[in-house]
Formats: sequence, structure tokens, C-alpha cells
Amino acid sequence: MFDYAIIGAGAAGLHLALAMQKDPFFAQKKILIIDKDAKDQNDRTWCYWEKGEGLWDALILNSWSEGSFYRGGEDIRLKLSPYLYKMLRGLDFYRYAKQTLGKHAGLVWVQEEVLTVEQGSPLQINTSKGQYLAQYVFDSRIPEQFFAKGDSYTRLLQHFKGWWVKTPDDFFEPGRFTMMDYRLLWNGSTSFTYVLPLNRREALVEFTLFTPELIEETDYDTMLQRYMEEILGLKHIEVTETEKGIIPMTDFPFERYSSGHYLRIGTGGGWVKPSSGYSFKNCEKNARKVVQNLKNSRPPGQGIISAKFRLFDSLFLDVLNRRNEEGPALFHTMYRKNSIQQIFAFLDDETTIPQDLRIIVGFPQAPFLGALLRKIAG
Ligand SMILES: Cc1cc2nc3c(=O)[nH]c(=O)nc-3n(C[C@H](O)[C@H](O)[C@H](O)COP(=O)(O)OP(=O)(O)OC[C@H]3O[C@@H](n4cnc5c(N)ncnc54)[C@H](O)[C@@H]3O)c2cc1C
Repeated sequence: MFDYAIIGAGAAGLHLALAMQKDPFFAQKKILIIDKDAKDQNDRTWCYWEKGEGLWDALILNSWSEGSFYRGGEDIRLKLSPYLYKMLRGLDFYRYAKQTLGKHAGLVWVQEEVLTVEQGSPLQINTSKGQYLAQYVFDSRIPEQFFAKGDSYTRLLQHFKGWWVKTPDDFFEPGRFTMMDYRLLWNGSTSFTYVLPLNRREALVEFTLFTPELIEETDYDTMLQRYMEEILGLKHIEVTETEKGIIPMTDFPFERYSSGHYLRIGTGGGWVKPSSGYSFKNCEKNARKVVQNLKNSRPPGQGIISAKFRLFDSLFLDVLNRRNEEGPALFHTMYRKNSIQQIFAFLDDETTIPQDLRIIVGFPQAPFLGALLRKIAG
């Protein structure tokens, strides 16, 4: 019998396990981690922002204090201080977690596929190889109901392909990254490119869309090639690695699929910020909240989902879904009218109502009012 079982050793599961490992309250507890994968591949690059120093600084590949937002002829310079925008490789995080969690005497890590979880006290986890009992279960699988659709929630996809590129000569500015570049669009949709330079000759360049449907694999490559040539003016590059991803951008109420000692976490728990697709830092913050809740005998998911920010996200997604071609202008407005510090605080669910209002009134009002009325009617 385990005190805690964590299904999924991804961003959410590992942040949670690491937060437990760090806290003496969990030193004598029995913790189980189950993942179907070995977690020995670099399957993603994570970027996030935070103020100054952070927990994963020893792992980061690069960080930036300056960025740019491009649309039309405009280059909006973003001075991030006191924030830094940071990037780390998934594999470095998995390796660090394995090494650190290996020090916890009561922690067991198994590679098995979870099939079902039976509610009860204790909960029972059925896997491809056997069964486990636990007092609390933290599950990073996405609830099946999310894929059933047929409800009124918005489901957009953030989908992208990235190339790690090398140039023969110095080209990139290692101190400045591109947050969003809307100078090259896929069929007028909300689509952009971002550039994360490692040094003068190496960068990760990703073409990203916020749309309801995916595009063909070759289309991402065409857009990346065009970006290199038409926007950056780079004819000779070497692609050393690629990465692809699909992140749900949705107001689906994942938290309704948690109950009692069973908590959905990560993407499956609604820990991805619906309007931005970011979640690495949310996983770190929410893992800390879960740990505090457990220590204080509160429901494990208490205080994680904010109704106010869920409403803002929901309205934003509705507008983006219905008027996808207006996305570039909406983001442009947001970056032109607000400081990057205000934008980061807003995306971190950390702004007060007067600060929210300052950001909201900057947007064209009619589409958001329509979205609000639909929400009320629905
Ligand atoms: C390529 C890519 C790049 C991204 N970049 C960023 C970024 O830069 N910044 C950011 O904030 N967010 C980013 N995201 C979004 C988000 O941070 C990640 O998707 C994050 O990994 C979500 O955490 P998670 O724990 O929910 O899922 P995951 O990290 O995917 O972990 C889920 C784990 O559960 C395991 N699992 C699933 N089903 C089962 C089962 N039945 N039995 C056992 N194990 C199971 C999987 O093997 C996996 O290890 C990115 C996502 C992708 C895909």
C-alpha cells in the first residue's frame, strides 16, 4: 500500500514528486510513480518565465532578458526585467528528477501502463502488469470525456514544429529571443514563429498555430523554410534536430474529473494555461499547492483553478476560435498596449481586478462582449 501514487512522470508528475521529495513531511511516506515510458528521450523543450533565480537554473540551456514581438513593420522590444525567459530540455529535467528522486527511500518508480483507477479508500490502480493500492492518486492521463466533444467548451490546438538550426556564420543575437513573429502567417490564421537562440550560430525556430485543426507535416516544414529565407534572409542552414507538439487550448473543466483523494494533474487537470498553452511553471506552482494541501489535510486540488482567470481564458479562446484570422491583431494589441511585465503577470493569473481591467479594455470590445453573452446564454 502506498501513501501517494503519481501516474505519469511528465512535467506535472515529476514536479509533484520533486516537491514531495524536498519536504520532510514526506520523508517517511511511500510514494509510487508509474509511467508507461522510460523517460529517456528528449521529447520536448520547455520555456517559461520567472523573476530572477529559479529552481531549475542548473538545467537551463539559455535565458533571455530581452525579446521581440513582430507584426507588420513593427518590432516591439520587450525588456523583461525582473523576469527572465528560460529554456530547458525535457531530457535534462527527466534525468535530474530520476537522480534526485532516487534518494527517497520510500519511492518506487515502475514502467507500466495504467489502464484504470478504481475509486475507493484506498484507491486501486490497475496496470498492464498488476495492481497497486494508494491513499491518494495523482493522475496525469487526460480524461476520456475531453476527447468525446459534443459539449459547448472551446477546443483549440496549439500545434507546432521546431527546427534546431545551425548557421555557417554568426547570425543570431544570443541575448534576445523572438516571443512571437506574425510576419508570416498560415492562410491568415493565428500563426507565428518564435526564435530561441542558444548562441550566435544555433537556435530553435518553431512555427506555431492556434487553430482548431492540424496541418500536414510538410506544411510546417514549408513555413519554417520560408521563415528562414523570407524573414531571416538565411539561405544556408543545417537542421540538426526537430521537435513537434500539440497542446490543447481549452476551457474544458478538467477539475470536475477529480474527487476526494483522486486528483487529475497536468494537462489532464487543467494545468495548461488555456490562452497561452504554457504549463511548465504552472506545474511547479501547483505541485507546491498540492503539497501544502496534503500537509494541512485539505482537499489536494484546493486553490488551483481560479474562476476569474478561467472566465477570461474562456472568452479569449471563444474569440480566437470564431475569429481566428483576428488573432495576430489581438496579440499585437496586447503587446503594444501593455508592458511585458503586465502580460506575464496576467498569464500567470497574478493580476488584480484593476490590472485585469487595464488589459481587457485595450482589446476591441465587441467580440469579447459577444463571447460573454454567449457564455451567459450557455
Ligand atoms: C513538444 C512540446 C513542447 C512544449 N513546450 C512547452 C513550453 O515551452 N512551455 C510550457 O510551459 N509548456 C510547454 N508544453 C506544454 C506542457 O508543458 C507539456 O505538455 C507538459 O509536459 C504537460 O505536462 P503533463 O505532466 O500533463 O504531461 P506530460 O509531460 O506529457 O506527462 C504525461 C506522462 O504520463 C505518461 N502516461 C500517459 N498515459 C499513461 C498511462 N496510461 N500509463 C502510464 N503513464 C502514462 C506519459 O508517458 C508521460 O510521461 C509543451 C508540450 C509539448 C508536447
